[in-house]
Amino acid sequence: MREFAFEQRLCASLEREVDGVLARQLGGGVHSARRVLDVVVVEPGPTFDDRAAITGRSIPRRAIESDVGRGRSRDWRGAFDLPAERARGIVERAVEVGFFERDPTAGAEHVRRACRYPDGWFDRLVAVENKPDLGAPGDLETQLLKDVRLGLVDEVVLATASHVTRAHLNRLPDAVGVWRFDPETLDRSVVREATPLPVDEHGTEIVEEHAGWTEVRLASPTAKARARRRLAERAYGKGWRVDEFPGCARVRDEAAAGGGGLPRCEWKGRVVDPGNECGPDCPGFEGDDPPSVDVAGERDRRTGWVAEPDGLASRQAGLDRFG
Ligand code: SF4
Repeated sequence: MREFAFEQRLCASLEREVDGVLARQLGGGVHSARRVLDVVVVEPGPTFDDRAAITGRSIPRRAIESDVGRGRSRDWRGAFDLPAERARGIVERAVEVGFFERDPTAGAEHVRRACRYPDGWFDRLVAVENKPDLGAPGDLETQLLKDVRLGLVDEVVLATASHVTRAHLNRLPDAVGVWRFDPETLDRSVVREATPLPVDEHGTEIVEEHAGWTEVRLASPTAKARARRRLAERAYGKGWRVDEFPGCARVRDEAAAGGGGLPRCEWKGRVVDPGNECGPDCPGFEGDDPPSVDVAGERDRRTGWVAEPDGLASRQAGLDRFG
């Protein structure tokens, strides 16, 4: 089974078992964008529902970190430590998702936060590295060692379909947990528990690697906390299902672990990655309308994520009036 199909079925299975939200293929660095985490599990914190009530999309981290506050609006042009064009794009996105609102009576460029940002909305972050076949590990051990040294997430786990031997375990960093997952039966067993990583302490991150030299940066607890929030936000907005099914007569909506949204190709006999495998270049392609699959609806039904919330702005504005 290809890694993509393994990942899709693992996500379907985890979604049934864990509380919180899941996403795949997200940047897992602090100062560097090099590391991409296969799957991230975001466990809910006490204010998860408040976060879900704002928007189903990611709130831009620069908007959260900006000097735009609640209450009195201000000109956004002085509120970001960024080039104006970049800041403008962030303001537009923040308005679009309902985190900022415009205040045209005060000025054309005036905005304020439409609601509070619920800082405690997420709790632990778990990163899962998928390696269905341990016979072809690539640079797995180095990769996991880097994750452990950085300590951005609370736990790092390796998921594999292979039989895990003592020799495999000895080669992995001690803190890395190991799951054996059968993508056919969806059985998952814990071979080794992960050890929690010190997310509140300094970590080290390789930001550049060249022949003969490597640049390493220290990641402070503050920088890590920001990067964790960015990661959680991206995970919240992204999820793990494909955005669109291909326009091919041979694709079906596969249900796994009680939920649908996995693109199964009847011609290939497995779950496929539409972005990389589908289209007129595929020898089995038969042009057709894509099947109507409610991907967002699946996620909404099966997790605490809300596809189209009403938004907190009006609710909080109402409360403030009587507060
Ligand atoms: S394009 Fe190819 S891989 Fe994709 S669904 Fe059609 S036959 Fe399958």
